[in-house]
Amino acid sequence: MGNLTNAPRGTQDILPVSSYKWRYIERVAAEEAKAFGYREIRTPVFEHTELFVRSVGDGTDVVQKEMYTFDDRGGRSVTLKPEGTAGVVRALLEHGCFNDPMPLKAFYITPCFRYEKPQAGRFREFHQFGVEAFGSSSPLIDAETIALAQAILTRLGVPDIHLEINSIGCPECRSGYRKELRAYFEGRKDRLCETCLSRLDKNPMRILDCKNPDCAEIAKDAPKITDYLCEDCRKHFESVRLALDALGISYAVNPSIVRGLDYYTRTVFEFITTSLGSQSAVCAGGRYDGLVEELGGPSVPALGFGMGLERLLLLMEKTNCVFEEEPPCDIYFGSMGEAPAGVAAKLTAKLRTDFGVYAECDLMGRSVKAQMKYANKIGARFSAIIGENELEQKKVSIKNMVSGETKEMSLDKDFTEHLADFMAYEQLYNSCEDMEKMFQMTSQGEQLERP
Ligand code: ATP
Ligand code: MG
Repeated sequence: MGNLTNAPRGTQDILPVSSYKWRYIERVAAEEAKAFGYREIRTPVFEHTELFVRSVGDGTDVVQKEMYTFDDRGGRSVTLKPEGTAGVVRALLEHGCFNDPMPLKAFYITPCFRYEKPQAGRFREFHQFGVEAFGSSSPLIDAETIALAQAILTRLGVPDIHLEINSIGCPECRSGYRKELRAYFEGRKDRLCETCLSRLDKNPMRILDCKNPDCAEIAKDAPKITDYLCEDCRKHFESVRLALDALGISYAVNPSIVRGLDYYTRTVFEFITTSLGSQSAVCAGGRYDGLVEELGGPSVPALGFGMGLERLLLLMEKTNCVFEEEPPCDIYFGSMGEAPAGVAAKLTAKLRTDFGVYAECDLMGRSVKAQMKYANKIGARFSAIIGENELEQKKVSIKNMVSGETKEMSLDKDFTEHLADFMAYEQLYNSCEDMEKMFQMTSQGEQLERP
């Protein structure tokens, strides 16, 4: 029975009571992205395995150890997406979008799948908010992309997070660097893990990203890519830093960030926190100027980032960030008896469809007392009870559940319209009162300042 009542290891359910937190984060991220000129893209959850092997790189941890790969019933090898970029590039290529005006900016919210050892902030199914911008190699777009990630984190009120950047150059600067790096690790071969030994020849930069503590220790003193950048890449990196300064974004240069995916070039960055243990990267990204061409397209410079939503949510909960809640129920229609219950159901339906009001009525056949308890529980702003009496006298009392005040309304053909108007007016009135209080506070504040 265990398998029927337990989700697979490394996955999480997002239940109705807490889904508002997700919706809030996703809404803020999407709104900020929209302000930066991004539009949403949706691509399949699985792709041909070859796509990830070619783009993420067959020497990476993701491809070697973490992919969910299987043959479908037609014998084709497919893989659940371990990251979002490859699918986006594939889709834009397939639909000829690189002929569109540039820059081309797209964002997505997607589940990702990696067979990893589950722990806090590390799952086998996790979610990313990601953005990709194509067509510009200007350092300004590097800064703009980083500014977008920063804007999202700022608007969500996430404290305790800082930005680290680096440049990992282009294939030209890397060929010289790789030689030096290989020589460095050759001399320390006996202490490298088996996976890294196999990386030594093909891609020694991957060793810098190894999570094995011994390898990480050796990697600390390895030659730094920043000392090997070609003139163009060095200048580009300098301009990115100047552009970030101009936008007032603070950062630290960390020459040991190399990123775990092969497609990155030049600028790479991470937003990291000290509050989530070793799962410190909340958002990570960079440039990938060679990827579109690598996948058979034209030469198109590009960059993007992926924000891990589980980590972001964990961090927000840990630091007591406020999640905007969904609006509560506007009105709960209680009822007593069969005919009144039918009327309550009809009124509820009319309020919903004709006036867009969030209305509920009793669907459990409960006592009036239990109905009101439920109305309180769901945070209904108003309630009404309909019984035989109300039907006879054609009058209903509408109760404000916060103040306890009641208002009698005629149960005539315009009832739902009047009720919807009344509730809208009350809401407006309340927000005006709140605003007035705020103004009073500020004007008092001003008076205090002006002697
Ligand atoms: P890490 O070094 O923590 O393994 P990564 O370099 O593999 O991260 P990326 O491939 O850059 O991560 O993915 C972008 C973001 O997605 C990460 O910064 C992180 O927030 C999130 N992420 C990556 N893997 C996981 C996972 N297994 N569970 C939850 N979130 C993840
Ligand atoms: Mg990883």
